[in-house]
Formats: sequence, structure tokens, C-alpha cells
Amino acid sequence: MNEFELIARLTKTLPTNETVLAGAGDDCAVLDFGVPEKLILFKTDAVVEGIHFTRETPPKKIGRKALARCLSDIAAMAGTPTAALVTLALPEKFEVEFVGKIYDGLNAVAEQFGVAIVGGETTTNPERILISIALLGTVPRGKQVLRSGAKVGDAIFVTGELGGSLAGKHLDFEPRLKEARWLAEHFHLHALMDLSDGLAGDLQHILNASKVGAVILKSALPVAHAAKLRAKENSSAKPAALAALTDGEDFELLFTVASKDAVKLLDTWKKKFPQLKLSCIGKIVAGDGILLRDKNGSHKLNAHGYVHFS
Ligand SMILES: [Mg+2]
Repeated sequence: MNEFELIARLTKTLPTNETVLAGAGDDCAVLDFGVPEKLILFKTDAVVEGIHFTRETPPKKIGRKALARCLSDIAAMAGTPTAALVTLALPEKFEVEFVGKIYDGLNAVAEQFGVAIVGGETTTNPERILISIALLGTVPRGKQVLRSGAKVGDAIFVTGELGGSLAGKHLDFEPRLKEARWLAEHFHLHALMDLSDGLAGDLQHILNASKVGAVILKSALPVAHAAKLRAKENSSAKPAALAALTDGEDFELLFTVASKDAVKLLDTWKKKFPQLKLSCIGKIVAGDGILLRDKNGSHKLNAHGYVHFS
């Protein structure tokens, strides 16, 4: 059983109540507390030593990453983060200074995005450091963007560049909060999420939730320099385009809009965010699954790569 099968099994019969507009299965839960103009966003995420960072990772960057991952999920709903709780599990022997620096990183990114840290919990965990964060946010009522709204004919967009994040970006990425809010204010986004597990696997979540398929153009993929460099320097590494499709931890935005809005979007984006690339990588089609087109034809894409199709 893989992670997604496990999640599907665990979330099949979760308790719910009248506040829940969207529960498990999107980037954040969306809750209605009866606040006239706003809905509440709720998210939790954890980073674990040996998986998301190592003992060699500068501790400030560990703290930064722990909160930035949650912030990216608030961005994925076009929301604004407000307050966080931090749970820290530490091995019995730990250096106070090291933990202080984790908090320095956490606090800095919290301040950068206007997030209050309002409490938490410290506990012990043999051997490995674990940081779990619960984050609250808000979104203007009716402006939340789920994964389930993609429509046949939509253009598919990604921000930034993809692949090779483990070379460094996974510790330093900027959650795309202002970009997502700007997009939702100026365009009718049909579906939106952030890229955490790799484009090929993550896009499939939008397709499943929206009951549609997608065609992606290989030549349109914005391949990160880090992925190109790794492929060039190590002949046994993934080809760069495959890395852009399947590497995780990009923390860029993936979204769809009606194709009639695509040109205006690219035009206005360039003026608003000249430093950040925006790429139209394909379109939503009827059916299911992802076809990758290149000069050799079409390939069926899954979370691990692609096989020749026609
Ligand atoms: Mg997400």
C-alpha cells in the first residue's frame, strides 16, 4: 500500500459536522464558522529528520521549511495565513542552541508572512527530530479555489521552474502566497494546488477531483537549472525533463483557467511578477490520466515517469 492508498483508506469514513465545506483531500480544509466575509482554512504538516532534512541541515532552514510547507498549502487555496501551533519532538539529548535556531528560522518566515505563533507542544522522540505545524488561515468567502473545478478546454499553468529541488530549493522556497491571491483576485481560477510530490503525481490529484484528463507538452515544461545541471554532470541521473515531471518539493503553484483567459493572464503576469516565470504547459481534456506529448508522439504519464503510448 502506497501513501496515497493509505490516505484514501483512512479518509473514507472520517467524522464531519456542519462547519466543513471541504475536508481531507484538498490542500487545506475549508471551514465555515459563520464569519460573514470569510471562510477558515486549516492545515497540518510535519517534517522529519532523515526525510525532509538531515542533522547537517542548518537548523534555521529546518524551521523555515517546516512552516513554509504549510504556507504553501494556504497559497494553494488562494488564502492568507494567520496563526500557527508548533509541536516539536526532540531526542532526549539535544542542544538548546540548535533548537533555538530552528525557532529563529520559524519565527523569521512567520514574520515575513504575518503569521502569529500562538502556542505548541514539546515532547521527546527517540533519535529523530520531528516538527509538526498546524496552521490557520482565511480566504474571502466564495474565493477559495479547490482541486475539483478543472474543466475540459482549460489551460494548465505552473509558476517558477520544476525539478532538482533537493539541490537546495527545498529549504529556501518562497511560498507563493501573494501570487495565488493576485491570481484569484484577477482571474477565475478553476482548480489550484501547490506542487509538493512532483508535477506528474500532483496534477493527477486535480484530474481525479475534477474527473478530467490532461495533455502536457514536454517542450513547454519549465525545467529548473538544478535539474539540468544534475542531468549534465551525472549520466545516471534522471533526464532533466523527467526530473521536472517527477521530482518533489517544488512548492510552485499548479492551476487551470479557461483557455480564453490564457493570453491575458500571461501578459498581466509578466508585468506584475517579472521575476517569476509562468508557463502554460498543456490543457485539460475529457477522459482521465495524463498524456505527455513530445516530438516522438504521446506517452502515458504516471507519478514515476512515462511509457510510450502512440
Ligand atoms: Mg498541497
